Amino acid sequence: MAFDVQKIRQDFPILHRQVNGQELVYFDNAATAQTPQPVIDAIVDYYSTTNANIHRGVHALSQEATEAYEAARQKIQKHFNAVHPYEIILTSGTTEAINCIASGYASILQPGDEVIVSAMEHHSNIVPWQMLCEKTGAQLKVLPMLQNGTLDMEAYAQLLNARTQLVFVNHVSNALGTVNPVASIISQAHAVGAKVLIDGAQATPHYKVDVQALAADFYVTSAHKICGPTGVGMLYGKAEHLRELPPYQGGGEMIAEVTFEKTTYADLPHKFEAGTPNIAGGIAFGAALDYVNSIGLEAIATYEASLLAYATAALEQLPGITIYAKDVEKVAVLSFNIEGLHPYDVGSILDKMGIAVRTGHHCAQPIMDYYEIPGTIRASFSFYNTKEEIDRMVEALKKAITMLQ
Ligand SMILES: *Cc1c(COP(=O)(O)O)cnc(C)c1O
Repeated sequence: MAFDVQKIRQDFPILHRQVNGQELVYFDNAATAQTPQPVIDAIVDYYSTTNANIHRGVHALSQEATEAYEAARQKIQKHFNAVHPYEIILTSGTTEAINCIASGYASILQPGDEVIVSAMEHHSNIVPWQMLCEKTGAQLKVLPMLQNGTLDMEAYAQLLNARTQLVFVNHVSNALGTVNPVASIISQAHAVGAKVLIDGAQATPHYKVDVQALAADFYVTSAHKICGPTGVGMLYGKAEHLRELPPYQGGGEMIAEVTFEKTTYADLPHKFEAGTPNIAGGIAFGAALDYVNSIGLEAIATYEASLLAYATAALEQLPGITIYAKDVEKVAVLSFNIEGLHPYDVGSILDKMGIAVRTGHHCAQPIMDYYEIPGTIRASFSFYNTKEEIDRMVEALKKAITMLQ
């Protein structure tokens, strides 16, 4: 079956709006992806027909809401091939999922323990671990990157030792698009007894991820990067690891029994889900996975690779252009600079022409420091983007070069 991008675009109402008098070209998918009608419908339907608090009520609405929410959890479990539904903790997003694990290890790590963070991380996969090290006296080691935009795997092998407890690395870099060799990173960590958390926020929109095949200890992502709503995400953890960790927050939903002498905690997943969750968001997360699966992640990856190749070839023709991580395995992200132009100025001119790109450090300042640049212009593509839209961006970049130089 041919990949019918025009038909797919009909599912996304926002793609038909105008920005600054022009039809929107949305190339900021790595920051958040757009929302298709079935996902919007799931949210509207929930509030129109089912809205009630879950896991508590005997009444019909509460039971229906609970069933829909737990069905979404099972969809997420199947999609990522977790062994048990209770290994899927629904969080407010990647950031909260990471903080949940970082806070849990504060009572487990000892002074002298070591944790490894890659130089290519989003700030949300750096700062919580710095806070953890401050609390525990553990040492933060940085897995360095190389000029071509990949991780230095030789340095990684040297960093690992018997004191290494945890390793944190993204599956795909949000700033560069690089796909990191996470299966190998995990197996090397396991060989010294360390556990690995994979930040999958940029991988899950483009690939089918199988947490068992990867042997990931923890794997996290946000629904809004995969056509779902904001404010909901996944923390996958192997049951044995999640059981070992203390709860993240105290409150309702996460307890078995409460007295002022002693409170006992609920079983997984509820131990980590204090308070009323984003119920509509969780259900819509499930609808988003249904939607991308109805197109097929393999078809999506193939189509996006063709967009990336087309855009790379077109951009290479522009004078003074530097494309970062150009020749490595990556998703459809183009991070670039044009000699003499500030990324922010280029982004502003593109915006005037209805084209949304991201400029700046992309919450990954250490990468920018590594390249000694203030930031980049990042165009990140999704399966609903087209070659015609890329042509429009290239024309707009040519105008920006003329105007700014
Ligand atoms: C977007 C992103 C995050 C943060 O996700 P939130 O939804 O803001 O919590 C973390 N890591 C990477 C790689 C991302 O792309």
